Amino acid sequence: MADLGKPQNTIAVLQKYNFNFQKKFGQNFLVDMRVLDKIITAAEITETDFVLEIGPGIGTMTQYLCEHAREVVAVEIDRNLIPILADTLGGYQNVEVLHDDILKVDIGRLAQERNQGNPIKVVANLPYYITTPIVMGLFESHVPIESITIMVQKEVAERMQAEPGTKDYGALSLAVQYYAKPEVVAYVPPNCFIPRPKVGSAVVRLTKHREKTVQAQDEGLMFQIIRASFNQRRKTLVNGLHNAPGLALGKEQVASALEKLGISPNVRGEALTLGQFAELSNLLGKGKA
Ligand code: SAM
Repeated sequence: MADLGKPQNTIAVLQKYNFNFQKKFGQNFLVDMRVLDKIITAAEITETDFVLEIGPGIGTMTQYLCEHAREVVAVEIDRNLIPILADTLGGYQNVEVLHDDILKVDIGRLAQERNQGNPIKVVANLPYYITTPIVMGLFESHVPIESITIMVQKEVAERMQAEPGTKDYGALSLAVQYYAKPEVVAYVPPNCFIPRPKVGSAVVRLTKHREKTVQAQDEGLMFQIIRASFNQRRKTLVNGLHNAPGLALGKEQVASALEKLGISPNVRGEALTLGQFAELSNLLGKGKA
């Protein structure tokens, strides 16, 4: 089958099947060979790898993955794409397409059966509104993951890799960085897709930490504190946490914990590093016990 990274080949497939794009599935198909190559390089796909692809569309990225990986499983929700994928991937023996919603797939079992339980690489270009829940769901579950290389809205990529004190830094930065090291590997303008999306995109590689880089005794509490800090971004941390309904923390308690950490009581949440949020939650958790 012809390389779908070339726009004319994608157009020919869409015409052959008289394909109707479904808005609800966020269908924008990538047509740029350089971006496709960059994704393969960034994801470090090699012939020993098992790769899970989420949302293969007409199989463009899948073709590239099949060329480089040992085995590929691609999960696609749209039944109209299944016969197309059988056609565009017909030449490959190392791929299986599952017609399913990724949110319903037992990914842990796939890793067990196809990769002897070893960490898998995930590659995805999904509707942007489900990207964050899927990424966080994968990290929070006990599925063995090595890396997730994913196309996201440009602003989301920037928020994922933002550092403390910057405008993009927030709960998403901290949630992602707790589990993984994010790196933007390519910016992808709308003209690299058919049809063109309204927003700019970026490919981000999230490499899962082998060991946690910070020690939070109660992850749930740490993330509650993080969310509360950024819900009231303009307030000092002491006021922000005191006002947070679910936390029941006194101003004095927060101020004294900050003092123990050598942090000013007037600090705003956006200045704290992940390590400082972990230490703060450890101190405040002790106060609660
Ligand atoms: N990867 C292809 C590409 O880059 O050309 C297609 C990308 S398109 C943005 C997103 C794809 O994800 C579509 O094929 C869509 O049908 C599929 N999709 C959307 N929601 C899904 C879900 N919950 N589970 C599996 N696939 C999904």
